[in-house]
Order: sequence, then structure tokens, then C-alpha cells
Amino acid sequence: RTVYVNGEYLPETEAKVSIFDRAFLMADGVYEVTSVLGGKLIDFDGHANRLDRSLGELEMKAPLTKDELLEIHRELVRENEIEDGLVYLQITRGAPGDRDFAYPDPDTPPTVVLFTQSKPGLADSAQSKEGIKVISIEDQRWGRRDIKTVQLLFPSMGKMMAKKAGADDAWMVEDGAVTEGTSNNAYIIKGDTIITRHLSNDILHGITRAAVLRFAREAQMKVEERPFTIEEAQAADEAFVTSASAFVMPVVEIDGAAIGDGTPGARTARLREIYLDESRKTAV
Ligand code: PMP
Repeated sequence: RTVYVNGEYLPETEAKVSIFDRAFLMADGVYEVTSVLGGKLIDFDGHANRLDRSLGELEMKAPLTKDELLEIHRELVRENEIEDGLVYLQITRGAPGDRDFAYPDPDTPPTVVLFTQSKPGLADSAQSKEGIKVISIEDQRWGRRDIKTVQLLFPSMGKMMAKKAGADDAWMVEDGAVTEGTSNNAYIIKGDTIITRHLSNDILHGITRAAVLRFAREAQMKVEERPFTIEEAQAADEAFVTSASAFVMPVVEIDGAAIGDGTPGARTARLREIYLDESRKTAV
């Protein structure tokens, strides 16, 4: 596989970053994951805009223009012959030398890394037909979840808690309400209404979330952006999560309680279809 590191395209075995990199020592970096369907990037603009926002919140300069980033994404997709899969992008505050809590000089060159992952049949996975089971756990992450940093240890622990409990993922709960999944935004459907937590610093502003809510409103579905509890979710008609790599994924069980009849809901399936159809049209 060919990867991109700081201006160079290299075989993955030859790519190197410094042990002093701020992301390695302090998780001081941001990332994006953009999915690829039919060799094209889904919602590239949304991801590029969120990347800019994450960099801004951490007082980092964008080292490349949006067009340059798009070209690197495309080159890797071409070079690695990715039909379905994803492109991972990470930008860190670089490797200034000595370890220091203070940010280094703003002119320290950032580290830019991109690589692809091939996932044949990504849009047609068995999981998307069966749905996933989630457990609830307390949200123990930091308070700036709107910044997409590489500081992912708690979500990783949450995923392992889910696996140990025989589930697929965890929904995190804070002050009695669901924030989001370990790597996705969380939704329930009651009657004709889609309910998902409002945007704030408490959750990542999902690019898939923005698109799905737009398509839902265009399809005359009602949307309520507000917190909801696990009890409300367990009593809902349908539940699902969204992310760039899972698209719209049905949730069929929460803490052992079946949602609806325990199979993926009809509205969720329709949203998934609309999302995939519409986002393929604007893929680049
Ligand atoms: N929330 C969290 C915590 C995530 O890690 C992700 C995926 N990166 C999402 C939501 C979904 O965001 P997106 O739709 O932009 O992939």
C-alpha cells in the first residue's frame, strides 16, 4: 500500500514519523475519515471544513489547501485501487524536539499523514442488514468532543467494554442522557420523529449526521435535536447510528432490550438508502 507522509508518497513500510511527534507524546493532532464508494470520496467538502475547524480550535495552521488535500486523497485512492473503503488523514502539531507541555513555535512543521483502507462491499455489509447491539456506559471523555482529536483512548475502552458484554458498540451517557456512540452519532425514532442530541461541545459534529438530517427533513420526516435517555431509547420504535464508515447503521438492541421487534426498522432502512443514493451523487 502507498501512503502519504509530509509531501511524499511512499510504500507503507518506508513511511516514518518522529518519536517526538506531539501526537505520539500528547495526542496533539486531529484527523478525518472520508469514505470511498465506487472509487469516489463521499462528502469530501464536509470533512475538509470540519478539519479546518478542528485545526482552528487547536491554534494550528492548515498546512495544505482544500484542493491540495483533495488531490492527495484522490491520488491514494487511484494508486491503491480503492473501490470501496476509506481514506484516513491525520495532522499533528509536529515534532519540535524536546517534550514540553507548551505548544512549540507556530512555525514548527506539522506532520501530515494519509493512508487508505480497502473495504470491499462497504455499503452492503451484513451488519447493515442485521443491525448492531449496543450497551450504555458512562461518558468519561474530555469536554471538547467537538474537536476531532486523535485522543481516542476512552472510546477504544468503550468499544472493548461492549465486546466483552457481547455487544457491538457502546452509547455513552452523561447526566442521564446519551451523548453519542464510541465512533458515531446516536438516534432514535418515535413515530415519525427522528430524535438526536443537539450540537454542542459534548459531541462530535458528524458530517454524516448533517447530511442525514438534511435528507430526512427533505423527505418530510420530523427531526428533534435534543438529549434523550437510555430508557426513552429502549422504548423507541427504531434506533440507529451514523458515521462516515457505517453510513446509517440500525441498532436493534440497547442494554439487552430489543428495539421495536428487534430487527432493523423500516424508516432507518429508508434513511440509509436515501443517504447512500444522495451522497453517491455528490461524491468526488
Ligand atoms: N461521533 C464520534 C465520537 C465519532 O468518532 C464519529 C466518527 N469519527 C462520529 C460521531 C461520526 O462522525 P462522521 O459522520 O463525521 O464520521
